Amino acid sequence: MDEVGFYFSIERMLLELGVKHRYTRPYRPQTNGKVERFWRTGMKATEKSIDSQGQTMNTLSNSYIEPYHKNICIIPFVHIASRADGAVHLCCRSLKVLEESSKPLSLGANSLDEIWNGSEIKAVRLSMLKGRKLPECRNCWNEEKNGKKSKRIKENNSFLKFNYHRLKSAKDNKGFLSSLPLSLELKSGNSCNLKCRTCNPLSSSLWQKELKHHEKQWKSSSILKSAYEDAFHLSKQITKWHETDIFFQTIKKISQNLKLIYITGGEPLLIKSVSQVIDYLIKTDAYKNITLRINSNITFWKSAFFNKISQFKLVEFYPSLDAVGEKNDWLRPPSQFSKIEKHIEKLLLLSSNVEVKIECTVSAYNVLYITELIEWTRKLAKNIPPLPVYFNILHQPEFQHFSLLTKSLKQKVIKHYTIFKQEKKEMLYKSEIEGINYVINTLKSSLEDTEKITNLRRSLKEHTITLDRWRKENFSSVFPELVELLNQE
Ligand code: SF4
Repeated sequence: MDEVGFYFSIERMLLELGVKHRYTRPYRPQTNGKVERFWRTGMKATEKSIDSQGQTMNTLSNSYIEPYHKNICIIPFVHIASRADGAVHLCCRSLKVLEESSKPLSLGANSLDEIWNGSEIKAVRLSMLKGRKLPECRNCWNEEKNGKKSKRIKENNSFLKFNYHRLKSAKDNKGFLSSLPLSLELKSGNSCNLKCRTCNPLSSSLWQKELKHHEKQWKSSSILKSAYEDAFHLSKQITKWHETDIFFQTIKKISQNLKLIYITGGEPLLIKSVSQVIDYLIKTDAYKNITLRINSNITFWKSAFFNKISQFKLVEFYPSLDAVGEKNDWLRPPSQFSKIEKHIEKLLLLSSNVEVKIECTVSAYNVLYITELIEWTRKLAKNIPPLPVYFNILHQPEFQHFSLLTKSLKQKVIKHYTIFKQEKKEMLYKSEIEGINYVINTLKSSLEDTEKITNLRRSLKEHTITLDRWRKENFSSVFPELVELLNQE
């Protein structure tokens, strides 16, 4: 059973491994004996093949994993990630952009060799192998501290046990890896048709346009200036790096090795080069071994795109939704919830290898209402298992983090979540219970106001009121239960 629940477990694992699921005949215990024998033979063969390279599986595990198992992350050993401007990240949760000679590495300007074995990534690998917790990974560590399964844990579950040899190889070669990446995360520019409250100009061209329009106003507010200046500056430098030859050379080099490609945005369905990459992977047959993970706002439907992606080995499609109805539309303007609902229903009718999971960005604005979203997903799907809701915890900007709610609102959320969990336990996925527990634990540990919290709440207030004015929206009428957030002096 994996964290998503009972119905994805065996089928999904088999699909990923390319294994055909065969059943023994009923009332035929002799066949079970054959199966047991098959496993014994298989395990012996595996041990032997590793022995022939000089080490047993146990030795490998003892020498390279156990001393570090608490802190290791497989990401720098298997994964490449891009920011919207092409700068190379460790991963989407990390705060680090990888540099060479104090210049950010870019998928649009540097070769695969320069990126994959640059001096910083090699240093990161070696630090992790020494068991260090890197400061640039603090989002993962903070989530784990409050009982959430971090990206580190999820990626380790997917990749670590099949890639011990990469740890050994990096350790023996000063961080250098000759094996190619297995996983690619693409954020190809910031083209987007939405300007979500929790987003920024680096991830949305519509946000960028809005900030350009009101440039004088937000630059005269120290709060808004510090929140958006860097992202606005970087967004102005975004080029078509994802259409360059050097980027496509990298795709060509790694495509046959890839196991996972994660495409996020901007809005991936609006970006031409995303379709070009998908076409290339289909043309070269690489798609047969690849799990395609996509985040989309799904505010529009593109039949050709969906037909194409359905061919991949497995598709994990994450529609982004932050609440139900008008609350979602306020958080993610100018989306229309009723249209999104129809598109999700269509998504559910696509091929059986397309798994749909809701990605919800959890912030101070919506933390009280996520239970409504979970209940909505339970009513949505008929004749198929309900869609799980994933809690994507917002860390930046800090003034939208849910821990800056007032004490009385925190108590309200804690009570509401506790009752919801007790009453609806039977219908909740493990990942949802984990998300709920994470929110409860975080709120309990930050119940009392501190100077930092009141300052952040002041920033949230200014941000909310300013955007309401620009967008002719009204927070208080959409979120009447949260009005006290705006009472901060
Ligand atoms: S520990 Fe977390 S933030 Fe750091 S590389 Fe791994 S997944 Fe990314």
